[in-house]
Amino acid sequence: MIDFSLPNETQMLVATVKRFVEKELNPLEDEIERTNAIDSGVADGLRRKAQELGLWAMHMPEEMGGGGLSTVEFCLVNEQIGHTKDVLARRAFGHVPSILVRCAGAQREKYLHAAMRGEIHVSVAMSEPEAGSDANGIRTTARRDGEGWILNGSKHFISDADVAGAYIVTAHCEEGISCFLVDRDTPGLELGRIQKMMGHRGTHHNGLFLINCRIGPEQLLGELGRGMSIVLGLINVARLAYVGARAVGMASKLLEMSIKFAQQRCQFGAPIGSFQMVQKMLADMQTEIYAAKVMVLNAAWEIDQGRDAREKVSMVKLFASEMLGRVADNAVQIFGGMGYCTELPIERYYRDARVFRLYDGTSEIHRIMIARSLLERGDVPL
Ligand SMILES: Cc1cc2nc3c(=O)[nH]c(=O)nc-3n(C[C@H](O)[C@H](O)[C@H](O)COP(=O)(O)OP(=O)(O)OC[C@H]3O[C@@H](n4cnc5c(N)ncnc54)[C@H](O)[C@@H]3O)c2cc1C
Repeated sequence: MIDFSLPNETQMLVATVKRFVEKELNPLEDEIERTNAIDSGVADGLRRKAQELGLWAMHMPEEMGGGGLSTVEFCLVNEQIGHTKDVLARRAFGHVPSILVRCAGAQREKYLHAAMRGEIHVSVAMSEPEAGSDANGIRTTARRDGEGWILNGSKHFISDADVAGAYIVTAHCEEGISCFLVDRDTPGLELGRIQKMMGHRGTHHNGLFLINCRIGPEQLLGELGRGMSIVLGLINVARLAYVGARAVGMASKLLEMSIKFAQQRCQFGAPIGSFQMVQKMLADMQTEIYAAKVMVLNAAWEIDQGRDAREKVSMVKLFASEMLGRVADNAVQIFGGMGYCTELPIERYYRDARVFRLYDGTSEIHRIMIARSLLERGDVPL
């Protein structure tokens, strides 16, 4: 029997996150959009409130001080978090990279536990000007220097690099690509300029330069030469929750606003919602949101069962991000000229939505991954 009902405690958690987003985060959005920044005192206050409610780092294991949510639960809360801006989600709920669970020895206190307490932010620095989709094509090198390494190379588009105290850097060494923890104040590490983006104002992305950057042996994260499998092994939950579930949340918010507008806005003496072409857009939006939501939860459930859900996660990433693009486009259309006007948030959502198809693997890369596993297997899975 398939049971889609949610336990009471899950419903209460989702309701708590929804209230937090509406009460604490939504009111801050216009100011952040205007200034492209969030005050650090405000950000700290949000984190403390979220920590008090048990809403900080909800995806991390309980024994490490996290919320210990299942993937299904984490996706459900991220659907609500999709109703607010990316930077507010990051500051309030914590983007502790899952890869920090691989910290060992003294790294655990310095990076993992400090990040779990909200004392340090750690950014993941993989992409380079010459290597985005081709993550194995990075040029950053880690050359042996006694027991430690000397890093050389450059990274770009690193989210939250300006607030990070340390970076997880991928680099080529003799044994293959490895991950290294590099502190912000390491001599030879320089923060590049903020790379201005189309949307997600308030979240900053910078380049990073590593120039003869010397690090000790204790900075290696995980096994030598296993960097890509460490990263890829932990990326599925992030793709589902931060892209799939948040796309569903953002699309739902756009639909809610579109329904209200269609009920209130009158043309030709009638609400535009009475016109069948507007109804078609609303119906298509709702249908696609529903499909994406079911896909997110099914893939999340597969992960919780310990199954290999990589192909499903790729389908979710592909469909949910493209669904959001279509929903945002329909919302602009329903709002007419006001949808294009900066007085209303619709145009902001339209811009914010665009990046979902680019990061965490572009649509093209996920199509390649889906097709590859279909052709390797030679059949269509249920
Ligand atoms: C807002 C934002 C935040 C980001 N945050 C981070 C971060 O925190 N850390 C980090 O490391 N990176 C980050 N990135 C980088 C992101 O992961 C890359 O932008 C993404 O992987 C795509 O790489 P690229 O931009 O170099 O595009 P490219 O790889 O150059 O791709 C360009 C185009 O070619 C297509 N293409 C490439 N290869 C193929 C192929 N084999 N077949 C068909 N089409 C192909 C792509 O789909 C795309 O359409 C961020 C990016 C953005 C925009």
